Amino acid sequence: MSPEARALLEEASAVVCTQAKLDPKSSVAIDEMQARPSLPVQHPDAQAGAQRAQKLLPVAKALVISSLRQLVVEYNLQKSPRFERRVQQAIARVNAVRRVRPDMESRDNASVFLSRPQVITFGTIFLAGLRSDEGMISVLAHELMHIADGENDSLRLLVSAVGSKAGDLTGLDVQGQRGEEITCDLIGAMAVRAYVADTPGYESIARRLARSIQHNCVEIDEGDEDHLSPRSTIRALLSLHPVLVRELVNDREERAQPVPPVKQ
Ligand SMILES: [Zn+2]
Repeated sequence: MSPEARALLEEASAVVCTQAKLDPKSSVAIDEMQARPSLPVQHPDAQAGAQRAQKLLPVAKALVISSLRQLVVEYNLQKSPRFERRVQQAIARVNAVRRVRPDMESRDNASVFLSRPQVITFGTIFLAGLRSDEGMISVLAHELMHIADGENDSLRLLVSAVGSKAGDLTGLDVQGQRGEEITCDLIGAMAVRAYVADTPGYESIARRLARSIQHNCVEIDEGDEDHLSPRSTIRALLSLHPVLVRELVNDREERAQPVPPVKQ
């Protein structure tokens, strides 16, 4: 990355985490969620989150499919008939998802059991901590991308290309599962960007876009073997999406993306 690109990335990252403090609907940071006591499924905040997630699931599915298509073209994989078949199967898996299941034990995590891929299990702390449609769509899209990749990592070609690119741009180690996680985050950010373009409102563009990444604005910045740390996730994600960086910094959309109609 050029010094200019790096400076712009730092600026965008500052916008995301400044909005975390100013925006009344900002997503709660992961470390703050981790520190909270478990939340019963019946708690009003958990119920509101579960309803929001279920309501947005059809939109998130459509946005994941269009974002995946876009990413395949961006990484120049659209010409391989074998990969195209895999993408079609991935899209079928996304389309088969039916339900969000709120779960107290899952706390601040969302997960998919690939033996039961029609259901996204969502911790109640996480449901309550994602206070905007944009924040919720980014996490739903992340989980849907895991479902798209499926049990056999069938989108490996795309996932490892995204991971290598993030690694090259940032110098971070983004191999293996970390590549999949950052690809899921990227699809989440792309989905939110398309959602913002498709649902104009009075809130600032930067504020709405920031919600797609904001849960990573942690104080305690720890990763593990499978995940970059949250702060590194912000850097890796923004390095992959220079348009998003400029939109965050300039508080202006560069180009409205066409979004396919959603059947509800
Ligand atoms: Zn994940």
